[in-house]
Amino acid sequence: MGAPADEGAESEERAVSGCLFCQIARVERPSHTIFAGDGAVAFLDIFPCTPGHTLVIPRQHYATLSEMPAEEVGKLFQVAAMVATKVQSALGAAGFNLGINNGKAAGQEVFHVHIHIIPRYADDGGGSMKSVAHFKGKESLEQIAAKLRPALAQP
Ligand code: 5GP
Ligand code: ZN
Repeated sequence: MGAPADEGAESEERAVSGCLFCQIARVERPSHTIFAGDGAVAFLDIFPCTPGHTLVIPRQHYATLSEMPAEEVGKLFQVAAMVATKVQSALGAAGFNLGINNGKAAGQEVFHVHIHIIPRYADDGGGSMKSVAHFKGKESLEQIAAKLRPALAQP
């Protein structure tokens, strides 16, 4: 017996109705929203790493970046870059990190795509993006590149 035809739609509906960030986008959950656009919303992270730590989300629910259509990814990054630049300037930060924890292994806890904007301040005690993992593996750069080039040659 096959699954009902609309099972996918139903489970998607369940994911969305229970999703904290969908609730924030629909203003059903309190947040410190700082930007509300047609396609994306930016709000302060409830447990900030630095003052002004902001999350930028698409209004539409996608669990991970890999599920998002390319055009939507482009629009989301455009908003993130704009918000990050304004946050830095308004708070007098010295720079910012922009990042996505994509997937559980990468530290993703909320499965609604979000871009972290972490304003950086002189002597804030943090490192660069390269400080998030330390596992070099055994393969050479050329071996890794040889695995990746065919995958990226596909449309
Ligand atoms: P992740 O680890 O999934 O990349 O990050 C999720 C982020 O969402 C965390 O930094 C966490 O502090 C933040 N967060 C989780 N729940 C809420 C919430 O209800 N409101 C806000 N503003 N941030 C949240
Ligand atoms: Zn959601």
